[in-house]
Amino acid sequence: MTNMLELKNVNSFYGNIQALYDVNLHIDRGEIITLIGANGAGKSTTLMTVCGVVQARTGAVIYEDEEITKMPPNKIVAQGICQVPEGRLIFPELTVQENLDMGAFMRSDKAGIARDMDYSFELFPILAERRKQPGGNLSGGEQQMLAIARALMAKPKLLLLDEPSMGLAPLVVKQIFDIIKKVNAEAGTTIFLVEQNANLALKIGHRGYVMENGRIVLSDTCDKLMANEQVKKAYLGL
Ligand code: ATP
Repeated sequence: MTNMLELKNVNSFYGNIQALYDVNLHIDRGEIITLIGANGAGKSTTLMTVCGVVQARTGAVIYEDEEITKMPPNKIVAQGICQVPEGRLIFPELTVQENLDMGAFMRSDKAGIARDMDYSFELFPILAERRKQPGGNLSGGEQQMLAIARALMAKPKLLLLDEPSMGLAPLVVKQIFDIIKKVNAEAGTTIFLVEQNANLALKIGHRGYVMENGRIVLSDTCDKLMANEQVKKAYLGL
């Protein structure tokens, strides 16, 4: 079995409003999968359906051979799925170090936690410099780094990233995407990346899915998607 995550004919709703229609996708262990699409296409809803914040009304979410469709979010996190939500949502009053500690709240392996804290500071040296400062004092890019580092402190097997580039300067975005690649390559963390910035997302992903109006309309390797005329026109501005 290589499938880490699979969505089978998933339909998700907000009350009576249907946001996802028969979504099928799969993620293999060790992959970086990108999901691209316009504003409101259903990308965030897909991530929220994976982590249980929105429960699929019909269809199935299967993680490591176990159905998690109706599992509460806290149990899903305990299985090794961690989300960095859109808008980052760090704790502004807590210091950088305390934010990172919060990420490890479900763990009790002190040595492992210390090791991962060191690894976070190695990935993001700026966070080490600012470890005693309140999270709210950091710049937008630094807060995004903190949100990712905090998620990594949970030692996830599958990391869900919702629009990590949002509102950030291109140089900072590049830095963050380089680190996402590094975490995937070094720590073997499987990554499910949702992005409106298709140019960037398709450059770091192995495979990608394109979503329109709650439906997956295309899926392929990122190289092939980048060469696809439809994708070029609609998402790459070419
Ligand atoms: P964005 O990049 O803007 O976040 P998205 O692709 O992530 O877009 P979703 O946020 O998943 O899209 O939204 C999918 C659809 O569900 C949209 O039509 C949106 O209006 C609707 N929607 C999202 N959240 C809610 C909610 N809490 N209540 C009702 N409808 C919602």
